Amino acid sequence: MTKKQLEENYQQVLCNIENACQRSGRNPEDITLIAVSKTKPIEMIKTAIELGMTSFGENKPQEIRDKTKSITDPVKWHMIGHLQSNKIKYVLNTCELIHSVDSLKLARQLSKQAEKKECDINILLQVNVSEEDSKQGFMLSDVEQTVREIATYNNLHIKGLMTIAPYVENPEENRSIFRQLGELLIDIKSKNIDNVNMSILSMGMTGDYEIAIEEGATHIRVGTGIFGERNYNS
Ligand SMILES: *Cc1c(COP(=O)(O)O)cnc(C)c1O
Repeated sequence: MTKKQLEENYQQVLCNIENACQRSGRNPEDITLIAVSKTKPIEMIKTAIELGMTSFGENKPQEIRDKTKSITDPVKWHMIGHLQSNKIKYVLNTCELIHSVDSLKLARQLSKQAEKKECDINILLQVNVSEEDSKQGFMLSDVEQTVREIATYNNLHIKGLMTIAPYVENPEENRSIFRQLGELLIDIKSKNIDNVNMSILSMGMTGDYEIAIEEGATHIRVGTGIFGERNYNS
C-alpha cells in the first residue's frame, strides 16, 4: 500500500462519513473514525498518522503493547478484540477505551488490576445483538442488569455499548441490529445510573459503517476500507 493509496482510501472513508451524516442530520464531528490497524506494520501506521489519522484499533493485547512502544505520537489506541484476563496488563496504561468487555468476570479482573495500578479504565460493553454463537458479548436482555452491576466496580467507567454485526452482502441487513443497540443505549442512558455515561456507540465496520452512522454510531471501526485486505499468514 503506497501513501497515495492510503490517502485515497482515507479520504473516501471521510467522504462516506460526511454523506452518511448528511443523510441522517448528524454532525461529522460527532463521529470518531477508528482506523483498525491490526496485523498492519508500524510503518503503515506512521504513514496513517502523517495523513491525519489519530485513533487506532487493535485486537491483540501484545500487538498494542509492541506498537505503542514503537509509536510514541499522541494517538489513541482502542482495544476491540476479545481480552483474556492474563493479558490485561498489556492494555492497562496504553488504551483509551476497551470496547470488548464481554463478561462480568473480565470486568471484575479489569477493576481489580486497575485498582492495584491506581489507574482508571474506560470501557464499553460488547453486546451480541445478532445472537450468533460465534460472537462474544452480552445478550440484549442482560445488558441493563450488567451495567448496574459493573457500575459498582472501582476504577471502571462504562462509556457505552459496542457490537459486531454479522458479515452480510447487503449492509441494509444490519440496520435493525444497529437500531436495536442504539435504542438500548438511549434507554439505559435515561435511567441515569451512577458512574455510567452512555455516550458511546461503537458499531459499523468497512462493509456497513454508513448504515451504522445513520443509526447513531459515534465510533466506527474501519480496517480493510483504509489499510486494504489483511494477510494473516505473513
Ligand atoms: C477487524 C475488526 C474490525 C475492522 O474490520 P474491517 O471489516 O476490516 O473494517 C472492526 N471491529 C472489530 C471488532 C474487528 O475485529
